[in-house]
Amino acid sequence: MTHFIFVTGGVVSSLGKGISAASVAALLEARGLSVTMVKMDPYINVDPGTMSPFQHGEVFVTEDGAETDLDLGYYERFLRRAKMTKLNNFTSGRVYQDVLNKERRGDYLGGTVQVIPHITDNIKERVLRAGEGYDVAIVEIGGTVGDIESLPFMESVRQLMVELGHKRSMLMHLTLLPYISSAAELKTKPTQHSVKELLSIGIQPDILICRTEHDVDADTTRKIALFTNVEARAVVVCKDAKTIYQIPRNFYEQNVDDLICERFGYNDLPKADLSDWDQVCEALFNPEYTVRVAMVGKYVELPDAYKSVNEALLHAGIQNRVKVQIDYVDAQALESEDIAILDTADAILVPGGFGERGTEGKMAAIRYAREKGIPFLGICLGMQLAVIEYARHVAQMPEASSTEFNRATKYPLIGLITEWLDERGELQQRNLESDLGGTMRLGAQKSELVAGTKTREIYGKAEITERHRHRYEMNDRFIEPLEKAGMRVSGYSSVQHLVETVEIPAHPWFIAVQFHPEFTSSPRDGHPLFASFIDAAKKQNQKGK
Ligand code: GLN
Repeated sequence: MTHFIFVTGGVVSSLGKGISAASVAALLEARGLSVTMVKMDPYINVDPGTMSPFQHGEVFVTEDGAETDLDLGYYERFLRRAKMTKLNNFTSGRVYQDVLNKERRGDYLGGTVQVIPHITDNIKERVLRAGEGYDVAIVEIGGTVGDIESLPFMESVRQLMVELGHKRSMLMHLTLLPYISSAAELKTKPTQHSVKELLSIGIQPDILICRTEHDVDADTTRKIALFTNVEARAVVVCKDAKTIYQIPRNFYEQNVDDLICERFGYNDLPKADLSDWDQVCEALFNPEYTVRVAMVGKYVELPDAYKSVNEALLHAGIQNRVKVQIDYVDAQALESEDIAILDTADAILVPGGFGERGTEGKMAAIRYAREKGIPFLGICLGMQLAVIEYARHVAQMPEASSTEFNRATKYPLIGLITEWLDERGELQQRNLESDLGGTMRLGAQKSELVAGTKTREIYGKAEITERHRHRYEMNDRFIEPLEKAGMRVSGYSSVQHLVETVEIPAHPWFIAVQFHPEFTSSPRDGHPLFASFIDAAKKQNQKGK
């Protein structure tokens, strides 16, 4: 039987609801429970797939190919036993689309279709379905209490809590305790108001997570408890942490897991073993030195656009016991600036992206890494550009390009996957997802790594599974000339034999991959490719010393 913990936020946005929810999940997992997580997003987009990374941050891709909110990335990084799927993230738009489709089909038999019960029923069904098979499901509601948009979600939560009952449901509310320096005081009023807001829609929180920059004394927590009708021991203080990976322990020390287990009747579970989380923090706090990675991309003003890549680099730093400093370099600026600004980098990374803007700058960075022997990792668009750069400057194809940004290229090295499969007469057998912009390769797929390559050595196995999100592919017509010129294809997709990974054997560390390895890196387990990349950055860093 699944138990549900609903998570809401009040006062302001960006309180870190996703991270708090994921930390509770990690803590419960450490008690031996199987835990899954759900994110409900109040916006009207059917999924975040079409939203600009500038506005919304990265699109996180699940194993089964769902394009989801970046909070799902946190969920996977904090949990070991649950993998997120299409069921774990949905938006108001998705819910409305579903209900409207049913209405058009005549499923409501002429009845009036309304927010309550039709929209709320759809939401409730989705929540229950996502929780099936788990001991606990933690369900996060996007937005802030009081937003018009999240009301149907709140109402669904209220109904679910009544239906599931006290022993199977809880609500955890995040609030802010602002510090007013002129009064030298932490203020509890915004918390009282946001709980009032919850109460006005019929929801009594069970746990309050109070975000603060300062220590909170017992008098303050007692006062909050009194005014909000929450038990004093359930008023949890979440002071800004040096790393988010400390939060599971922070919650453990305030007995959040006991509180939840007691309520749900899990009375004979072992204590939480958080030693692996402690090791993560210990490594983060005691790096031997710093290595610098230049990340050359288009969305550099908003680091959240590369959330999973940033995290994967951090994890690789943990494994290598170094601090990884990421220097964001605007690819477009690099087109006019002196490329020597990359001189301070111990490694260069070109992440995924869409569209032509900045691609020449990215290729200039790739060329620099290649010629100077600086460790280089290319991801998705970063791989496509690495291939084009090599073709142009080494393999005598000066007009090599991608049809994504040059339809008329003489050497269409990178083209739509549909074009190549059509050429090979394999278009029918494809397993592609259709989306608004055409046909995308989405989600986890298998690849075979070529024996004797560095890529294979790093993974330590021949078959790997990694996640994809792209429309363009390398055309296999160009494999031969590129290999002759010294670039090596080190991996092919198992099903369609598409180029997945390339490397330059004569370079100290130059690997580029069509998939997104960042989505499967986690603080406790890291990812072999990122770990090896940072190991190479270390060597580069120590070279001059
Ligand atoms: N724009 C490229 C493609 O669609 C790369 C996509 C990506 O980097 N995620 O293939």
